[in-house]
Amino acid sequence: MGIYLEDDLLPLSVLADLVFCERRAALHQIETIWEDNLFTVEGTHLHKKVDDDLPVESRGDVRISRGLMLRSFRLGLVGKTDVVEFHRLTGEAITPLVGMAAGVTLDEATGLRRPFPVEYKRGRLRREKGFEVQLCAQALCLEEMLHCPVPEGALFYGKNRRRQVVRFDDELLRRETEVAAKRLHELVRSGITPQARYAKKCESCSLINLCVPKVAGAGKSVGRYLSRMLAEEVVK
Ligand code: SF4
Repeated sequence: MGIYLEDDLLPLSVLADLVFCERRAALHQIETIWEDNLFTVEGTHLHKKVDDDLPVESRGDVRISRGLMLRSFRLGLVGKTDVVEFHRLTGEAITPLVGMAAGVTLDEATGLRRPFPVEYKRGRLRREKGFEVQLCAQALCLEEMLHCPVPEGALFYGKNRRRQVVRFDDELLRRETEVAAKRLHELVRSGITPQARYAKKCESCSLINLCVPKVAGAGKSVGRYLSRMLAEEVVK
């Protein structure tokens, strides 16, 4: 995997789109089309609530930091976290690892801490691979920036306020995240929006009315499709 330059970095959050549907990622990143639906409005509200909370606070042995900027030149990603918890390390956990510190020092008085990213999602607790990949990408950014391991994080679901711990010691998830980041760069470089394929998931997609998956197939650009529709309207 190559080393990217600052100008090449792409939004980390689009990885969740990419895993959900490559066309959705292309509509956002290549055709810059965005549309809200009930799900995205709820999601935005939830993220805003997180942003409005205090940027840094301490709860017991945990230091909570909100809205931390992240980047990875290895993966070519940039983004912002909802929350990073810094958990205090004790006992054997403070032993340095090969080629890495065991944790990061925020202040001398409280010793080493290990980052634990938390990403807020709307709705009820559920498994979504795209969310896990997005969270894992945050962990990989933190490891690259802070030079310490990030073995786990969590997805927090606003509807029933449940937290799902995601472990990053699973090599498969790390590999899937690296592949997704590489694919996102290939997709954006190609400038080609993939063909729409209608599926059940389209019904929960905020872009369904602009993507028109039942009619805009064969890799057609939504922009060109909309222009054609407008031209036909003018002729009528
Ligand atoms: S409507 Fe379906 S095909 Fe279109 S972007 Fe959304 S998920 Fe992808």
